[in-house]
Amino acid sequence: MKVGILQIGQVAPEVLVALEEGLPKTFPDTTCSIIKEVLTIPQSSFDKKRNQYNSSLILNEARVYAAKKQDFHRVLGVVDADTFTFGLNYVFGEAYTPGGTALISLWRLKPEFYKDKADLALYTLRTLKEAVHELGHTLGLQHCPRSLCIMHFSNSIFDTDKKQNLLCDECYLQAAIAISNLR
Ligand SMILES: [Zn+2]
Ligand SMILES: [Zn+2]
Repeated sequence: MKVGILQIGQVAPEVLVALEEGLPKTFPDTTCSIIKEVLTIPQSSFDKKRNQYNSSLILNEARVYAAKKQDFHRVLGVVDADTFTFGLNYVFGEAYTPGGTALISLWRLKPEFYKDKADLALYTLRTLKEAVHELGHTLGLQHCPRSLCIMHFSNSIFDTDKKQNLLCDECYLQAAIAISNLR
């Protein structure tokens, strides 16, 4: 699977590099590169009342970009803004299940957001976990009932921290089959 990492708005470069290096370690037969172009966060995605960004609209912007590029099997949008989707107070990410595009938000992955001290290792591990989870969805994986599997639903950062950055055997097999069917 060829994954392109798409920066949307301002994003810390070390996070993008951590994704580029980390994703091929989790998914079989996968390469990853950071796309040079940077998208701006669409103005229309900002919800004044909530003071948050609508993740579905940002995801759609990334999808439109990916459809034009066609260099990658999957495009992972990365945004550092507080995102929500209708029915949820906030989201760590969103993806087409299955589909070509996923989005993760870094906003609530930073330890500082929870008044903890800055910790780059923890921050990048959380980022990687969310990226693996959303890319898993693009491969058709649903939420997994096993609480340690990366495809388990995260209600909060505590769930994210509890999960391992690994697919359980069943999810891994499903991901490997989906990847082997990519052309
Ligand atoms: Zn999910
Ligand atoms: Zn699983």
